[in-house]
Amino acid sequence: MRVRIPATILLLAVPAFLFAQNPGSVPKMTPKKITAAEIQKTSIIIDTHADTPQRFVDENFNLGDPLNGGNLNLDSIHKGNLGAEFFSIWVEPKIYKGQYARRTLVLIDSVKQQMAKYPEQIMFVTTPEGIEYAHRTHKFAALMGIEGGHSIENSLALLRQYYALGVRYMTLTWSNSNDWADSSGDIDDKSIPHTKEGLTEFGKDVVYEMNRLGMMVDISHVSDRTFYRTLVITRAPVIASHSDARALCDAPRNMTDDMLRAVANSGGPDSKGGVIQVNYFSGFVSQAYRDAMKAQSAEVDKAVADAKAKAQAEGRGFTYSDEDKIQRSYMDRIPRPPLSMLIDHIDHIAKVAGIDHVGLGSDFDGVSGQLPQGLDSPADIPKITQALLDRGYSAEDIRKILGGNLLRVFREVEAVSKELQAQDRPRITEKQPFDKPQK
Ligand SMILES: [Zn+2]
Repeated sequence: MRVRIPATILLLAVPAFLFAQNPGSVPKMTPKKITAAEIQKTSIIIDTHADTPQRFVDENFNLGDPLNGGNLNLDSIHKGNLGAEFFSIWVEPKIYKGQYARRTLVLIDSVKQQMAKYPEQIMFVTTPEGIEYAHRTHKFAALMGIEGGHSIENSLALLRQYYALGVRYMTLTWSNSNDWADSSGDIDDKSIPHTKEGLTEFGKDVVYEMNRLGMMVDISHVSDRTFYRTLVITRAPVIASHSDARALCDAPRNMTDDMLRAVANSGGPDSKGGVIQVNYFSGFVSQAYRDAMKAQSAEVDKAVADAKAKAQAEGRGFTYSDEDKIQRSYMDRIPRPPLSMLIDHIDHIAKVAGIDHVGLGSDFDGVSGQLPQGLDSPADIPKITQALLDRGYSAEDIRKILGGNLLRVFREVEAVSKELQAQDRPRITEKQPFDKPQK
């Protein structure tokens, strides 16, 4: 029996010079261009930051509900083929003072309650393999990251228990400095005590213990000094779960080119380096938007303070959602930046840090709906894919941005953790958990 050999294989076997001599005999084959939809379908898309747990707890919102002003629900997740989300476990530091651990646990529970409500659609996972398995079985993978080291209440025991509950990254700070690490949000506030070197001895132990556990060290939100101090001591590559490029928008929350390169080189000489996940918040994406925001900030602060005082006088609680509504009403007046400006940040980070060091960290449900034009939920992720394709990015590179890079870093963090656990454990300091404020 004669085996039929496909024409394409026969063509490949013929030396190229024969074609040159005989151009008329070659069938015209225009290579089929891959579409954004095809890339979307074949990628594991991972977003590293969404604040939806505040909605779960404060608004009784469920992922099966319509968006109703929010950014993330099951319908939009399926439309955009979002494969995995790291839900942010963020404890507002003023409202929940004295109850950080309690609020942290309530938020962790709220993510797990969503899994219990939609077991056919959502899978709770804690590993890179878990993300891949969920993708293969057409389920949405839910993960958790803590936003703000104050959640551990200066206790490595709490850190370890959060890991045990499934938390897989922690930003060392939120906008508030804590006893062991400094935040970009209040580093210039002289009334707040800061560390001498960016991290106290205990802060270094926290980073070490995160490395040992296999919890990704997230440097979004920290002060520049804390950033560099962390990079000196971390044994694993770090992530910025939701930060942009300072060269394009001058926000302390964004990262300088030097910092972008430092993340790419983090984890030591044998490491493949960390990843910067771009934040969609208009105030970090666009300088014009940021300037407009600054211009009205005093007015907004006053409106929030008034509402808070009124709530207190009436014996009511004042939640993040209450504050968010006020913030939103003001920011809605500022024109939204074009989506291309967000793509500029991806482009810039890819050029400065490298294509292996950029990804997506939307900050959905955490930015009062202030997002670039046409980007309102995961259903709009295909627009990012299309824009990258239009700028000449290859399918392979786009897959890295959409989730491949984060998966690589997550895997390496786990590998470093296994190595450290196999070693004799260095002493964890018994010193005071924080530096005494300088007099
Ligand atoms: Zn944040």
